[in-house]
Parts: sequence; structure tokens; C-alpha cells
Amino acid sequence: MAKPGYRVFETVVGEIRRMSPHFVRVTFRGDDLNDVGWDGPDQRIKVVLPLEGVPEGDDGFGCFPRGDDWFGDWRALPDERRNPIRTYTIRDARPETGELDVDFVAHGDSGPASRWIARAEPGERMLFVAPDATSDEPPGGWEWHPGTAGTLLIAGDETAVPAMSAILAQLPASARGAAFLEVPAAGDVLDIEAPPGVVVQWLHRGGDEHAEATYGARLVEAVRAWADDELGARGAARAEAAAPADAELPALADDEILWEVPEATADDGVYAWLAGEATAITTLRRHLVKGLGVDRRRVAFMGYWKLGRAEG
Ligand SMILES: Cc1cc2nc3c(=O)[nH]c(=O)nc-3n(C[C@H](O)[C@H](O)[C@H](O)COP(=O)(O)OP(=O)(O)OC[C@H]3O[C@@H](n4cnc5c(N)ncnc54)[C@H](O)[C@@H]3O)c2cc1C
Repeated sequence: MAKPGYRVFETVVGEIRRMSPHFVRVTFRGDDLNDVGWDGPDQRIKVVLPLEGVPEGDDGFGCFPRGDDWFGDWRALPDERRNPIRTYTIRDARPETGELDVDFVAHGDSGPASRWIARAEPGERMLFVAPDATSDEPPGGWEWHPGTAGTLLIAGDETAVPAMSAILAQLPASARGAAFLEVPAAGDVLDIEAPPGVVVQWLHRGGDEHAEATYGARLVEAVRAWADDELGARGAARAEAAAPADAELPALADDEILWEVPEATADDGVYAWLAGEATAITTLRRHLVKGLGVDRRRVAFMGYWKLGRAEG
């Protein structure tokens, strides 16, 4: 049987660095990480969180399955023995030295990942599921496919900042477009690299991360303004040429996963990559596709999380 493209990795928490009021970078270490794959800049992994309330002597990972069918085995476990799993992005990986960085958003104690980051300690054991570079199977798990697009639109909130930072850092010097990054507070603006032709705009919610009504509001406003200017006329022309189905968007039920990623574009038009809180991302996509007539096959949109709903 072929070796799966993903597998469980055993690591130890190395360094924990608070980079800003809401971003915490954790460097995981371990020889196992010599085999970790990192195929695309927005490569996602599954972080396995320790079970809470376990007996002394169990570090919270005693029940987590390690075999090729870890997912099936994990699902078959009773609730109280099933570790929480959450999706994160590889911010940087150095397989040669067995290191991998993840930037966690600290958003309070409402979820197991956010609770963990508030109390994590160097030396703790940690597991995650990530691409296995020794497998011949393509792992997938990344969505940045701009093809030959001439104008790039990259937009997201703090949960997508790690992916957007990695995307921007690997763009060619000739890339053109704009990136919009919404973060909770002014202090969360990070130092990131981007080519000169890509305008980077940070937006912040003024530090009140609990003001739920404001999640994504600044992002939507800024992206709409840019898109109306940059894509309005061109988008309208394209809308006329597009097949009617291209302007149609299916209605999404409340519990549906908001995720649609196109193939790479084969011309020099626009390519949009949108990720973050599901409602804001849906609003943006709707504006681009329905409002401006951008072909939906040029818009990758990914609900990274949904306000009021736990992952998993
Ligand atoms: C492909 C992908 C890549 C991602 N990469 C990253 C990454 O690199 N870094 C990162 O921090 N996140 C990332 N996320 C988002 C992360 O998976 C979610 O934020 C996740 O819900 C956090 O788990 P939790 O256990 O803290 O909260 P959950 O148990 O999932 O949720 C508990 C509550 O917290 C709320 N909540 C969840 N996330 C946030 C938030 N950021 N701010 C405020 N409230 C929130 C939920 O709405 C829910 O009400 C990514 C998601 C995807 C799909």
C-alpha cells in the first residue's frame, strides 16, 4: 500500500515567542521534522491538542492513534478520548534542522488551541499531522495557485496572516497587486516582506477583539474600495463575456464549509486569495463575483473559522 502523503509527527515545543499582543510564534523541534513537507506557501497542518483533564502521568496524547488510518481511528474513539484537532499554517519550516514554526492567534479561552497557547511551555510534547516528504503521494493541503495572473488580490484576517506572510515573501519581484491584512490591534502589525509592486495595507480593529460586530468590517471596506477602483471596469467587461453560471453563486447553508478554490489561471487577469472569518470572506467573494463580475474561477475563498462555531 502506498505511503500516505500526510502522517503524524512527534515534536517538542522549543521556543515560544510573543510577537505582538495577539500573535504567538511556537517553534516545534524534533528529528521527526527532518521529513516534514512544505509544498505551498499556505500549507496547512493539523495541530493535535492535548486532552484536558486526563489522569496524572498521561500527557494528554495517550489515546491519539499513530497508524496510516489515524483519522479513521481517531473518529472511532469515544468523545472523552478524542484529542481536539485544529488547522494551522506552516509559517516556516527548516527540515534540515528539524524545526517548524506556527504563528498562533491568542483569542482567549474559548477554544482548546487558544487555551493551549496561553499556557504552553517549552519542552512539552506536541503532535501534529503534516505532509510527509518521504511519501510519493502528493499531500495537497495548500491553495495558492495564481498561475499567470497579472493582478493579485490577497486578503484575510489574523488567522490568515501566517499564510499571507509566506505567500508575499515568495512572490517574484515583478508581482503586482494588493494585500490587505486585518488584525485585532495596532500592535499586531508585523514586519513582513513583499515585492514593491504589491501594496500592503494593514487594518486593525482598535484592540477590541471582543467587539464581534467589527470582525472583518475594515477588511471588507478596504478590499471593496480597492476592487471597485482596480477591477470595476475590467470586471464589468468580463461579466458580459462570462457564461451566466460564472456569475451565479450557490446559496450556502449556515453549517456549510465555506471553501472553494479554483485551478490556476492561464492568463494575465486577476487572481484573488481570500481567507479568514467565514462571513467576511463570503461578503468579499460575493462583491467580487456578483458585484464586479469577476469570474468565480479566479477567486479562492476559504473560511478559516466562523464566529461562534468551534472547528471540528
Ligand atoms: C487552512 C487553515 C489555516 C489556518 N491557519 C491558522 C494559523 O496559522 N494561525 C491561527 O491562529 N489560526 C489559523 N487558522 C484558524 C484556526 O484553525 C481557528 O481559529 C480555530 O478555530 C482555532 O481553534 P480554537 O481551539 O482556538 O477555537 P475553536 O474551538 O475552534 O472555537 C472556539 C470559539 O472561538 C472562536 N474563534 C476561533 N478562532 C478565533 C479567532 N482567531 N478569533 C476569535 N475567535 C475565534 C470560534 O468562533 C468559537 O466561537 C487556520 C484555519 C484554516 C482552515
